[in-house]
Amino acid sequence: MKNIKTLFRKNIAGLAPYSTARDEYQGAIGTYLDANESPYDTDYNRYPDPYQKKLKARIAQIKGIDPGKIFAGNGSDEAIDLAFRVFCEPRIDNVVTIAPTYGMYRVAAAINDVKCREVQLGVGFSLDPAVVLAATDSRTKLIFICSPNNPTGNSFDTEDIVGILEAFAGIVVLDEAYIDFSSGRGLLERLGEFQNLIILQTLSKAWGMAGLRLGLAFADEEIIGAFTRVKYPYNINAATQKIALQQLDNNIYTQLEEIKNERRAMVEKLGKCQVIQRIYPSDANFILVKVEEPRRIYNLLIDSGIIVRDRSRIEGCEGCLRITVGRPEENKKLIDALNSIAEQ
Ligand SMILES: *Cc1c(COP(=O)(O)O)cnc(C)c1O
Repeated sequence: MKNIKTLFRKNIAGLAPYSTARDEYQGAIGTYLDANESPYDTDYNRYPDPYQKKLKARIAQIKGIDPGKIFAGNGSDEAIDLAFRVFCEPRIDNVVTIAPTYGMYRVAAAINDVKCREVQLGVGFSLDPAVVLAATDSRTKLIFICSPNNPTGNSFDTEDIVGILEAFAGIVVLDEAYIDFSSGRGLLERLGEFQNLIILQTLSKAWGMAGLRLGLAFADEEIIGAFTRVKYPYNINAATQKIALQQLDNNIYTQLEEIKNERRAMVEKLGKCQVIQRIYPSDANFILVKVEEPRRIYNLLIDSGIIVRDRSRIEGCEGCLRITVGRPEENKKLIDALNSIAEQ
């Protein structure tokens, strides 16, 4: 692997970042007359730590990874956007995505004026590394792989992902937003083997903090350093840092087990619903199902007060609805509603 720095955009490689008052002096106690803050205590009158040191130390401990390899962003969306801003020269470089997948990669590409080359998953939403690599050229900077994949729910074979990492001269962004629900372990424990790997995880799903907006990226220090220079200095506000630290003390194990059990039970019950034509295997906290008349079923579910995601107009997902695994009573409500639709 060549030096990662050679993959950075030229303006980023030489960027001198904004220096905050808290960069100049980092002591914890004193009379702070350096940042034009209000001197009156409101709990939030001081600027937050731009490097989120306490938060990263805790995440490092939970994930078993060096804090220098962690980036915290305003949702995973910030890390996705930063990958474009750090690596992709607008109108010159391109990226590869593997559809059907999470829509944000394509939107971030469009916003950054970077061409998005979309390849399709194969039969049964399978990943063919050769197809993905064939779509790249010397100007391809990023390949986005989402595993478990949204909206299909399946995970890809780790060795296939490793094969792409080894063959590709650019950066692989591996989105593991749903890894906590998966039977696989993901690639975080092997991060050190791959200089060109960025792993995205989030506190929005298994950790129950979607409202706080906290996304994580794990990568080589060189990449985390570039993300940190390019991000807004105070990208994670003080309230989010404080509350996330508290919430990270929660034990989510029981909830994860319940969701996985409910997923198994739902697959079984959905299999007996007349309106369901096909259930795709899921490694995430949602299930993709195929129905004959997706829009009609979607609307009838809304009439029963149940909102699912209509993915039927996405190429490769024709006829499909995506159903999040909820609490047991919510899942029962869904199954009952589907069964009564069948009787109509
Ligand atoms: C939900 C989700 C995320 C998380 O996004 P946040 O901005 O962190 O809330 C990331 N990637 C995928 C594929 C998702 O489905």
